[in-house]
Amino acid sequence: MDIKCCKEHVELAIDVIVDEYEVPPVVELLTGKDELSTICEYCNITATYKVANA
Ligand SMILES: [Zn+2]
Repeated sequence: MDIKCCKEHVELAIDVIVDEYEVPPVVELLTGKDELSTICEYCNITATYKVANA
């Protein structure tokens, strides 16, 4: 799974992945079209990061 989130919520997303999967998460910066079309899962601003469990 992955969580798209803004800069404010990236630490929260990392905690969620670590809690649920007990693995170090992979944090990627969203770029271009992905960044513009993706909304943070925790608030309503544009997402900057994707935090994944693989
Ligand atoms: Zn957010």
